[in-house]
Amino acid sequence: MRIAKLTIVFFAFFLIILFSCKKKNPSGEGMASITALDCGSVSFSGTAVANSLFSATATIPYAGGNGLPYSGGADSIQSTGVTGLKAILQMGTLANGNGNITFLVVGTPASNGTASFPISFLGQNCSINLVVGNGGGSTIKTIYDSIYGAYSITYDANYVYIKTYDLPDHKSIYYPTSNPLYEFFSGTTFGGNTFVKNPNSIISQNGTFKIPLNPTAATTHQATPLGPIGIALDGVPLFNQYAAGGSPLTNEVNGFDQGWGHPQPQGMYHYHVEPLYLTTVKASKAALLGFLLDGFPVYGPEENGVVLTSNDLDIYHGHSHATNEYPNGIYHYHFTADAPYLNGSGFWGTPGTVTQ
Ligand SMILES: [Zn+2]
Ligand SMILES: [Zn+2]
Repeated sequence: MRIAKLTIVFFAFFLIILFSCKKKNPSGEGMASITALDCGSVSFSGTAVANSLFSATATIPYAGGNGLPYSGGADSIQSTGVTGLKAILQMGTLANGNGNITFLVVGTPASNGTASFPISFLGQNCSINLVVGNGGGSTIKTIYDSIYGAYSITYDANYVYIKTYDLPDHKSIYYPTSNPLYEFFSGTTFGGNTFVKNPNSIISQNGTFKIPLNPTAATTHQATPLGPIGIALDGVPLFNQYAAGGSPLTNEVNGFDQGWGHPQPQGMYHYHVEPLYLTTVKASKAALLGFLLDGFPVYGPEENGVVLTSNDLDIYHGHSHATNEYPNGIYHYHFTADAPYLNGSGFWGTPGTVTQ
């Protein structure tokens, strides 16, 4: 009887210890906890490319944090789908309420596609997905090499630098008559307008376009400036839909030559609309025609045999899907015959710079 009583006391004591261990971590503090983890809103600090070493931070928002510290992940989480990557939880302290946890994601993705990581954090489970691009930086460089009109194309880790004299390789009435590419032009130009020559002539420029190699969508979309906003494959700058002073192009359109471009007062030749020589001779109406300064590509006015209008595009005059050059999909602009022709309300991404 006495032994049984003692056993019960011991057992109760054991239960109390067990209970207190469950409620408290070894430091004696309460347990970190959250109420929700939002894997769908994950962001990665870098762009992954197949067969290239990748190291970036994945940031995942949570809700209902209780302000307590948590330790980092001793075990890394291996990627599925695209293999070769692992995610490691970084230690931190929860906010009271909403906050973010971070994972270090490292490794060499075995292929392009989607790498998934099953995340488990303080009892909340979800999966984060990382898009792995195709072919590596060499593919991106090959795409930029299609700017045949540039006299120099060089790269650093984050930017491509494109230098051009801005001398179109097609005939123009705006070349001095002594130039072999001078050709008289009259009659109908872009939009069915009757051509009226402006007083300017093509003069060699020396512009450097610095364009981000891994374009990403901007949170705030900057308006495109007057002057160069991008570059066409023939090395000719692309301008937006406005004339000097921000007025519509109405009168300028009459001055577009046989290539549908024209020079401004300093002799800088440029396109506001479809570069006709590129879409009819050098490439096609559906082809890649150039890039805007944010690094997103510009395509012609046709897609899958359909002539696009501005109604098919968003307010930045683009949309996202796979293209020949970007088989995994990319945001891109299209030229259209209707205003704003190339760019509507600003850059989709963050623009680089142009220096003359
Ligand atoms: Zn112009
Ligand atoms: Zn498209």
